[in-house]
Amino acid sequence: MTLKIFNSLSRSKEEFKSIEPGKVTMYVCGPTVYDYIHIGNARPVIVFDTVRRYLQTIGYEVRYVTNLTDVDDKLIRKSENTGEPVPVIADKYVAAFLEDSAGLGVKDTIHPRVTENMDEIIAFIAGLVEKGIAYEKGGDVFFRTRQFPKYGQISHKNFDELQYGIRIEVDERKESPQDFVLWKAAKPGEIKWSSPWGEGRPGWHIECSAMAEKYLGITIDIHGGGQDLEFPHHECEAAQSEALHGHPLANYWMHNGYLNINNEKMSKSLGNGLRVKDILTRTSGAAVRFAILSAHYRNPLNYSDEVLHQAEAGVERLGNSVANVRHRLSAAIPGEKNEDLATAVEAALALFSERMNDDFNTADAITAMFELAAAANRYLQEERTSKGMLELILDAFEQMDGVLGILPAAEEELGDAEIDKLIEERTAARKAKEWARADEIRDILTEKGIILEDTPQGLRWRRK
Ligand SMILES: [Zn+2]
Repeated sequence: MTLKIFNSLSRSKEEFKSIEPGKVTMYVCGPTVYDYIHIGNARPVIVFDTVRRYLQTIGYEVRYVTNLTDVDDKLIRKSENTGEPVPVIADKYVAAFLEDSAGLGVKDTIHPRVTENMDEIIAFIAGLVEKGIAYEKGGDVFFRTRQFPKYGQISHKNFDELQYGIRIEVDERKESPQDFVLWKAAKPGEIKWSSPWGEGRPGWHIECSAMAEKYLGITIDIHGGGQDLEFPHHECEAAQSEALHGHPLANYWMHNGYLNINNEKMSKSLGNGLRVKDILTRTSGAAVRFAILSAHYRNPLNYSDEVLHQAEAGVERLGNSVANVRHRLSAAIPGEKNEDLATAVEAALALFSERMNDDFNTADAITAMFELAAAANRYLQEERTSKGMLELILDAFEQMDGVLGILPAAEEELGDAEIDKLIEERTAARKAKEWARADEIRDILTEKGIILEDTPQGLRWRRK
């Protein structure tokens, strides 16, 4: 079975081939850290993490980068409004983003920050100027789009359609309205860096080109982001990198679809009501992942309380199935193979891979996980279950959930012997008047749902 990915470049599903065998480089555009992220921002975070996990599952070593834009017009405006310096605002929202990402089950990501890569960004722009593909006017530097015939390759627009900023007054300094800014001269009082063109800061698009190259190389395997980034952001990134190096920035461009809220287009005010950090106080990261992954990543996704409740119910059903298998396993004995179960587990795993290989169809992959749960539940009806068969089920759940991350976090249950041992230790600590240690052990037990009771026969414990 081969993995197929819908490539925005060709607008078709293509067989995936990495540049280096067994290795994948992936760059996913990250947030501008001037505010908390909302559920719309969470979609690419979850979608591309799932792509990464699947690639790892099928044997690739994945190097995964998500940049953090920590200097930008939005940050500067916020600084003007609040009086807080840009770096203070950026640090606060970088920390918040990392916490939200972790809450959504995302790990092991390289997070370069713009302000820490200024030399590379300036060198990138200087390279373009040297080649005659960029020009300086009054302290700003622009990309000369007429010099790059492939401009339009990502968004599939013709050159005349590729104008943006039309609402804004046409900048007379540009040679052509399609040209976009690489370096912006600082206005008085703004945060700035020195460059060959005077003091200023980089444009948004150039950051990603420079950081993708620094952390992943000239051509990377997969570049991801939301559909809203196709134009102008990705179009400009692709143009800058290819114009400088003569090689494409990425072989596969992936874009996730829009997220609507109660069938309304995502807006800033809607987003403020649906911050990830707030959602994660009400529900689990697994439920949010389930809700996002229940639609194909390229389709629009409608998010609502009902969608989240359905996701929570789904997580619970799958979680119950796993918990029941685990519970039975604790008392299981080696037994005989159950052909029906073995066939059902294999079929669920095959369906899972087949659908994930088809451009990461997570909606159908979730269905495969429910088929596994159904097979598990049927097997648990049997009077005698074997250890090997139960382990087979758990192993399949683990394989699927390693990709989707939609099972509830496993509660580590304490075994009876462990509990007895802790209680003994606590009694000894109390006798030795080591009160802190005794309290610590009591807290551990309470946290695990163990209730201690003094009875006439001595200290007893029970599970909550
Ligand atoms: Zn980017």
